[in-house]
Amino acid sequence: MDFQQIFDKPAQTQATAPGRVNLLGEHTDYNDGFVLPTAIPQSTTVQLGFSSEHQHHFYSENLNEQVTILDINHTPSGFASYIFGCLEVLQKAGYTIPSLCVYVQSSVPMGSGLSSSAALEVATLRAVRQLLDLPIDDVEIAQLAQQAEIHYAGVQCGIMDQMASSLADTEHILFLDTRTLERRVMLLPDNTEVLVIDSGVPRTLASSGYNQRRAECEEAARSLGVKALRDITDPKVTEKLPEPLRRRARHVITENNRVLEVLQGVSSQRFGELMNASHASLRDDYEVSVPALDTLVELLQKTPGVFGARLTGAGFGGACVALVAAGEATRIATHVLEQYNQAGYNGRILVPSLELSNAA
Ligand code: ADP
Ligand code: MG
Repeated sequence: MDFQQIFDKPAQTQATAPGRVNLLGEHTDYNDGFVLPTAIPQSTTVQLGFSSEHQHHFYSENLNEQVTILDINHTPSGFASYIFGCLEVLQKAGYTIPSLCVYVQSSVPMGSGLSSSAALEVATLRAVRQLLDLPIDDVEIAQLAQQAEIHYAGVQCGIMDQMASSLADTEHILFLDTRTLERRVMLLPDNTEVLVIDSGVPRTLASSGYNQRRAECEEAARSLGVKALRDITDPKVTEKLPEPLRRRARHVITENNRVLEVLQGVSSQRFGELMNASHASLRDDYEVSVPALDTLVELLQKTPGVFGARLTGAGFGGACVALVAAGEATRIATHVLEQYNQAGYNGRILVPSLELSNAA
């Protein structure tokens, strides 16, 4: 199926936006903290045309599902909420949005922690910007996308995913200060590459666990008398907090420190150690890992050629990311998946080898 077959006319314009993987800095973006994502080769394409009726029509090729928006005062559920949300935030920003036909097609796996949701939002906003020649820049696109996800899809997300999809490329990591939106384009240590493996375990509990962690962080910040946990750099300060707030805050503070250490320039060994420490912190202090992710990370960590590995994304299932020696990712993935899947899991490679460094 294509646009023409679904909507009986050709598309007027189209735009694409990538998924992302986060190398370091997990659960920090809603604490005004620091993150290190990169774009991945998988992306989402949105095609647009004007609708001749007074109704929006959205079609997802991935879901083979079409939704007609009959009443714009009623937010749709499911995938349509992301697209509808993007159109609504543009309206609220003062732009007049006509009735549209929207066709979505994506190679970003949904719900695996590679941010298919941000890719959908950013591609939608880019396509509308192009169609209507709107004067909005890439940072504004990310901010509008985040508003759409929070207010229409009902996910209380930070700004990382949308900033990564809107501003990152697949050749660099993007250091982002989520408070000031200051950013820096960087490379990984020389002679390394990145591997992403799906644990095969769906992210059940992800939204409830996510909202609970968010609330715990806000409470911890309040108790410590700061605007956000980003304002604390010494993890010892958390000792006055009751459990589990103490450990939740300690994760965020140490995780921010790990990202800032990378900013100073680190070796591949050190970057790997920081990823391993991030996983331990997410597992023990933040408690967002599950046995499958721990198993996969341990298998990765003990495989020669791997500098470090951690769960990536919100946790409770989803994917793991590893920093490995250049040229080794495919061999490592095959070796690790053989053992992992023998243990009864259903893992698979999501991104085989992402080159984000110079060869030495
Ligand atoms: P992630 O962003 O990590 O992939 P989310 O749960 O945040 O996971 O977002 C996944 C949701 O985004 C899907 O359930 C669906 O509603 C929507 N979505 C993303 N990409 C598409 C697509 N190509 N077609 C339809 N819906 C999509
Ligand atoms: Mg998402």
